[in-house]
Amino acid sequence: MLAIPYLDRNGRPLAIRFRCLVDGCAHEYHGKYNSVKGDHPRMYGIASIFAAKDEIHVTEGELDRNILVKLGLPAVALPGAELWQGRFRRMLAGFNRVWMWADPDDAGSDLLNKVTRQLRQAKGIRLKQDVTDTYVAGGADAIFAALGREKEVAA
Ligand SMILES: [Zn+2]
Repeated sequence: MLAIPYLDRNGRPLAIRFRCLVDGCAHEYHGKYNSVKGDHPRMYGIASIFAAKDEIHVTEGELDRNILVKLGLPAVALPGAELWQGRFRRMLAGFNRVWMWADPDDAGSDLLNKVTRQLRQAKGIRLKQDVTDTYVAGGADAIFAALGREKEVAA
């Protein structure tokens, strides 16, 4: 399994989640993502909260978040569409703009509704596929097109 460490702002591990790398996995003994028992839902990649200026991006999955960061967009991930927490609102409240990259499915639109109700400055990005599939299909241009921007030169 791929181990996905959840790090604090100083790079110290807070938790680890695991993702099966078997293509088309249908294992019955684990889910899509797996946490250590008793761990509570955390935001992934919170170092970006401290590195970001007035905007932050939020994805549904850890790997989606890592793609945005690689493209120079400060981003955090929720541990899943159903795991939005009230305390996440407080973590994002200081940003002027919160770009929500929800998956284009029912769970994603429920999530987007919830986040935009709780955060006035949140705005949904319209995607035809999730962030990873969008990137695989169209590269950085497809991501920046979804955001409605030209690719910015990384500072
Ligand atoms: Zn598996």
